[in-house]
Amino acid sequence: MTSTENDCLFCKIADEQLPADVVYKDDLVVAFRDVNPQAPTHILVIPREHISYAADLSDSHSALLSRMFKTANKIASDENISEEGYRMVINNGKGAGQTVFHLHLHLLGGRPMNWPPG
Ligand code: AMP
Repeated sequence: MTSTENDCLFCKIADEQLPADVVYKDDLVVAFRDVNPQAPTHILVIPREHISYAADLSDSHSALLSRMFKTANKIASDENISEEGYRMVINNGKGAGQTVFHLHLHLLGGRPMNWPPG
């Protein structure tokens, strides 16, 4: 299923229609703590623009993508996980584990990470 902007959970969080533990926001992105954290630090960085899949990204999104990664790096520093290392994950499609169909970058850290991921 692909959410439209009207019924999209993460659009509603970005628009402050639904609560979230927001750690950063600006004109392009919002970042908030994952409700079901998989690591001591687990934060989602989302674009304000509704983009369902990473596969929908194009050259027109270059500034947005740069902002998403820059935001994750800044939050990692704020959370004191930069030195030990952290993981940034984007699940694209159901088979890869995507459950919310609004692009989001998972920032995970604060524990050792295994490879390959499950
Ligand atoms: P994914 O499986 O890659 O689509 O990731 C979706 C993530 O969103 C999961 O890690 C969920 O725990 C998280 N999530 C779902 N609903 C909320 C919410 N209301 N607030 C914060 N995180 C959420």
